[in-house]
Amino acid sequence: MTVRKLVTHPADILEQECKPVTVFDKKLGKLLDDMYDTMIEFDGVGLAAPQINIDQQIAIVDVDDQHGTIELINPEILETSGEQTGPEGCLSFPGLFGEVTRPFKVKVRAHNRKGKIYELEAEDFLARAIQHEIDHLHGILFTSKVSKYIDENELEELNKE
Ligand SMILES: [Zn+2]
Repeated sequence: MTVRKLVTHPADILEQECKPVTVFDKKLGKLLDDMYDTMIEFDGVGLAAPQINIDQQIAIVDVDDQHGTIELINPEILETSGEQTGPEGCLSFPGLFGEVTRPFKVKVRAHNRKGKIYELEAEDFLARAIQHEIDHLHGILFTSKVSKYIDENELEELNKE
């Protein structure tokens, strides 16, 4: 198990376009495993490679549902629909939470760790997490989409609902 060091804001790597992955080898598998260990260690529901200082289009999402851990390599959003507004946070912004509006449903195409292309449809919280991580791969941070910041007491109230 290898927990990598988290990059927190501000850092240039968090605000730049990441490079597509072209080699699907053992090293990539190890990186994905390390990203998983790092996400679990810091109690996140997703992690993007730039958050561990790697400028490649790799992200993982795990919202603890039947989808398990979703590995998104060179992901593209094919379609979105609807709208949802809810609280969001980011491992690169410890203790910061805000209301973000995003599409309710998303359809994505990505490579898995073996380089095979797959498509996935997600909605609600999973769709939110996927869109948040894909934004990271293009240097877009959730703070650019926050309509209202939430303090931690308010967040606890929201979580009770
Ligand atoms: Zn984030």
